[in-house]
Amino acid sequence: MTTTAPAPTGENCPACSNPVVALEWSETPWCPSCRWGLDHYDPATVPWRGSRWLGRFGYAKAFRLDDELRSTLAADPAAAGRRSRAELVLVGISALIVLASLACFVGAVLVWRTDWLIPVRFGVFVVLVLLGAFLRPRFTRVPRRDLLREGGAPNLRELVRRIADEVGTPAPDLVVISPDTLNLAVVRTGVRGRPVLVIGLPLWLMLSPAMRQAVLAHELGHLVNRDPLRNSLTGPAQRIFADAVEWTGGRHPWRRLGRDLDRADQSGLGVMVVRFLLALANTVFATIQLAIDAVIMPDHRRAEYAADLVARDVAGTAATVAALDRLNVLGELTDGLVHDVVTRGPADWLVLADRRSALLADRRELLRQATRRSVDLWVTHPPSGMRASLVESLPDVPGSLPVDAELFARIDTELGLWYDESHKAILGAREFLG
Ligand SMILES: [Zn+2]
Ligand SMILES: [Zn+2]
Repeated sequence: MTTTAPAPTGENCPACSNPVVALEWSETPWCPSCRWGLDHYDPATVPWRGSRWLGRFGYAKAFRLDDELRSTLAADPAAAGRRSRAELVLVGISALIVLASLACFVGAVLVWRTDWLIPVRFGVFVVLVLLGAFLRPRFTRVPRRDLLREGGAPNLRELVRRIADEVGTPAPDLVVISPDTLNLAVVRTGVRGRPVLVIGLPLWLMLSPAMRQAVLAHELGHLVNRDPLRNSLTGPAQRIFADAVEWTGGRHPWRRLGRDLDRADQSGLGVMVVRFLLALANTVFATIQLAIDAVIMPDHRRAEYAADLVARDVAGTAATVAALDRLNVLGELTDGLVHDVVTRGPADWLVLADRRSALLADRRELLRQATRRSVDLWVTHPPSGMRASLVESLPDVPGSLPVDAELFARIDTELGLWYDESHKAILGAREFLG
């Protein structure tokens, strides 16, 4: 998400008379001084959710939730680790989906054994098997290509182990080093939900060692903070209806139907009825998925803030806030990087990012506020500006793990070939962008 700096609109705030600002593509201004208008829904900046009413609801809800979580967690950081009922609901829905899948397969076998007419038997059998296959649990696969081999990059593994020790979780033994994934992440894979740490090199290379520790601690923090999106038992509920939306034609079913209607004379009435039913099913699935996501997201938001508090404990306030502020302007930083890669190699990317961030420093608070303009209930991450200001509102701490500069130097040496790959990948993207 690119956060272009908001610009003054030339008007003044009705509440405090200071100048108001707006994002480039938006006509809904807000006041940076008293925050008037910051909570006004703007369909131009928030992802479209099918209707204006729903969009406004999702924006208002998320806005309130972020304010509430920030003040709750600032007063009582321990509240971050508490479990809510949403996770249980999702595990329940997931169990029902898995049972339904099993029931389809059992039903298929039973139907096959009946003495119904062969074509009927065959038809019902095929439908049940397909439905059973569609509903079966699916697991995230690790991209083999970038998976670190066992014993590979021992210094990086040592760093991950030290941070995991501080966080209080076993270090993930599956590590993916990706030359072209922008961010860092922790995902779960397989039936047992083994954690996989994904290190996206472009961001990694734009972070100082202290910030890298903060981001790693944040990701490993997800393994101890009951994040529903990282619980494999909630997987089926999270995915199945979104998959169903794709299977019934993807997003905007009615717009598509309208286009088809324009050409209706070419296709018969029967085809149009099927298309109408598909669009209807699509809308129902999309609504169910939005409802499920609305149940998960408050917990997931809390988990993001909780992971930031883990980062603060391990890497300290300054490094965590600096890393979050870097995420705030990631759009600008990557745009700049794409421009610079022709003449500057990975060893310079941190200096370049530092320089660009310094240029944006005087607009830091404004940029933080701007991150709230594009986030609603269904966006997986709370606004990075809110996250930075939560960490800042807590007492300053130095962090429990000091930066070991020598270790980081060894890591940079051992990852040298990967860094070159990342350089090539971004040069490639640049060609692609023209
Ligand atoms: Zn104002
Ligand atoms: Zn996170």
